Amino acid sequence: MTRRSQADDYRQIPSVDRVLRHPPVRTMCEAHGRTRVRDWIRGVLESIREADTLMSESATNNGLLDTIAERIGAIAGEDARSGLRPVINGTGVLLQTNLGRAPLAQSAIDAISHAARCCNVEVDLDSGRRGKRGVAVEDKWRELTGADAALVVNNCAAATLLTLRTFARGREVILSRGQLIEIGGSYRLPDVFAEADVTLREVGTTNRTHLADYEQALSDETRAVLRVHASNFRQIGFTHAVPAEELAGLAHAHALPLIDDIGSGCVYDLGKYGWHNEPTIGGSLRAGADLVLFSGDKLLGGPQCGVILGRGDLIEQIRTSPLTRALRVDKLTLAALEATLRIYLAGRAFEEIPVLRAIAQSMEQLHERAEHLRRQLGEGAAAKSVGVESLESVPGGGSLPGETLPSCGLVLRVPNCDDAARRLRLGTPSIMTRVHQGAVCIDLRTVVPDEDEALTAALARVLTDEQVAT
Ligand SMILES: *Cc1c(COP(=O)(O)O)cnc(C)c1O
Repeated sequence: MTRRSQADDYRQIPSVDRVLRHPPVRTMCEAHGRTRVRDWIRGVLESIREADTLMSESATNNGLLDTIAERIGAIAGEDARSGLRPVINGTGVLLQTNLGRAPLAQSAIDAISHAARCCNVEVDLDSGRRGKRGVAVEDKWRELTGADAALVVNNCAAATLLTLRTFARGREVILSRGQLIEIGGSYRLPDVFAEADVTLREVGTTNRTHLADYEQALSDETRAVLRVHASNFRQIGFTHAVPAEELAGLAHAHALPLIDDIGSGCVYDLGKYGWHNEPTIGGSLRAGADLVLFSGDKLLGGPQCGVILGRGDLIEQIRTSPLTRALRVDKLTLAALEATLRIYLAGRAFEEIPVLRAIAQSMEQLHERAEHLRRQLGEGAAAKSVGVESLESVPGGGSLPGETLPSCGLVLRVPNCDDAARRLRLGTPSIMTRVHQGAVCIDLRTVVPDEDEALTAALARVLTDEQVAT
């Protein structure tokens, strides 16, 4: 092999145009756009110039072009992996805000694709005239909950902001100190008040607030009483909060509305599953709340949105606010929400809505699924590192703090857990696990059962690599 000078090497580096004409690169231009591929080529050529030696001293010109094309292919692959990708949630956290909270029911997913082109979001097909956005969904809310009226906006934070601003802009709203919450992701109630231009009238102490505290805070400036579910923390010990019924009584005696932010939008009582502290929509309405606010993508199991249910006259006032237009939902959200509500109306929520189905899965069912998946992995040396074990799921997503559900899943015992967890995350589909006490845990309660096969396939691939690696 003859040694060449660096100058010779540089002369060998093809021009950007030459690389663009190379057939495999031409194909990439069709898929990714010529401008982007040209930028990628420039980057690759730059890195070759910066390196001391060429990638291969004996490379013929075409060999070099192929190597460059390969590097560009790798960049394209990384680019494809960098956007939103499906993830299998094996974390044991039912509602992971970072994973998009509630997975949708199949009929809600189908509804999104049906609405994706043109749909009658604001047209009455019967008369051919302009219709009101969201009517079908609002009718279903009334049917399901008995509320007078409903309004759907971008999320619960938007619902709170809109409600406060509509009724109390420049005035006061009373709230217990024990309910002055931060949800995370920059949702802090005092900031929402400030943004709504409403004065927060805090009453009581951190741990105890009494009806008399609210009474004393009432003034000519008061426009509403707010109650907020402490969804992501729990107070125990010497505590007192005023029940919704009593707050409603006080508010109504002073012709004020009671606004109740219940957080999760739970339709059914979950006491049967050992979860006793989650407020329900019906419970809040029955207690006398004039407006009930909640998220669509928590325990309701629908798409991201914020729902305001309650008195028709109040909802109408909110609807006419200019801010409502800015915070409205799109047709895809309406389609998914409508399909989700149809499931509730059909009485099939615990069969079809993934988050409720996950809560309702018995230990026997979970164990059976885990054993089945374990058998599918076979008996190879690598598969032997996987066992079926008991785990604990948690609600997450700002619901039921401190509560857990017994669960079951696959537990991977390998020398380098963090590395295995990383490779599972980067696989296709991506699998999010929980590394706990020196093992990689995949909790099956949070894995949508339709994804079981994809899960074992991805796991088998990682295990094979693991064997190669060890
Ligand atoms: C989660 C939560 C919110 C925020 O809901 P988003 O839909 O994420 O905006 C507000 N209030 C309570 C009580 C919550 O639990």
